Amino acid sequence: MEIIRTVADMKARAAAWKAEGLSIGLVPTMGSLHEGHESLMDAARAASDRVVVSVFVNPIQFGPGEDYEAYPRDLERDARICERRGVDVVFHPEVDDMYAPAHNTFVVMETLTDSLCGASRPGHFRGVCTVVTKLFNIVQPHRAFFGQKDAQQLAIIKRMVADLNMNVTVVGCPIVREADGLAKSSRNAYLSAEERQAALVLSRAIFAGKAAVEAGERDAAALKALMGGIIEAEPLARIDYVEVVDGVTMQPTDAIGAMALVAMAVYIGSTRLIDNFLYEEGE
Ligand code: AMP
Repeated sequence: MEIIRTVADMKARAAAWKAEGLSIGLVPTMGSLHEGHESLMDAARAASDRVVVSVFVNPIQFGPGEDYEAYPRDLERDARICERRGVDVVFHPEVDDMYAPAHNTFVVMETLTDSLCGASRPGHFRGVCTVVTKLFNIVQPHRAFFGQKDAQQLAIIKRMVADLNMNVTVVGCPIVREADGLAKSSRNAYLSAEERQAALVLSRAIFAGKAAVEAGERDAAALKALMGGIIEAEPLARIDYVEVVDGVTMQPTDAIGAMALVAMAVYIGSTRLIDNFLYEEGE
């Protein structure tokens, strides 16, 4: 396995692979890798001749006062994990190489980015769409792998690829959880032991919401009340949002339709965690 640290070298490697007729799978990450990321690597490995994992903490998707500086970084550990998973290249560019001082172009989406995390984190998805577009142009993947954990991000990337006629297939992968239910996240490392226990309210609320929908609940307000009640019972938890949106447009809806996303962001102490489930009729 190789670590490539410059955009120019990554572009050259991707071009050489393409010239050989090899298919490329890309897993974009911010590092601090865990089993959620590893599941994306496994999916990429199974579907591609060459697998690239990008490890890049993207400054432009963090807002003022967010955790850009504090975000955990450990490239050596990440590289060991990638090597174990059969990854061919870890792409780890410098910020200045990705964003030259004169950088002035951004990818901005309209309504899909208004709701959920887009409402709480203005500019976040502008940063995500821009970096993912750049990674697609640099790595030239046939397939790119994203987690359902970031459900709005996945919906947005799919929309962007369709809207801009990008030559990449976006593959969504299921949420990987800890044995006790907590969705795996690099940010779980911020939690104290007490907060780690309190963080279980997210998955508890998700599982209760899912069970209610499977039992026939279709009213978004009732569902939000049920899930919100579970979270509010935990003193260390503070709701950012609990929302029901259309699974494609990401717009809030009053009733669970054919495809709905039930999503939440909750602060546990000062750590903001997200979780969700997707309801698809007949699934
Ligand atoms: P991040 O490094 O947090 O930006 O995440 C990189 C990719 O890994 C994104 O596509 C995430 O949705 C995905 N991911 C993060 N956590 C999980 C998880 N618990 N299960 C599945 N995918 C995940």
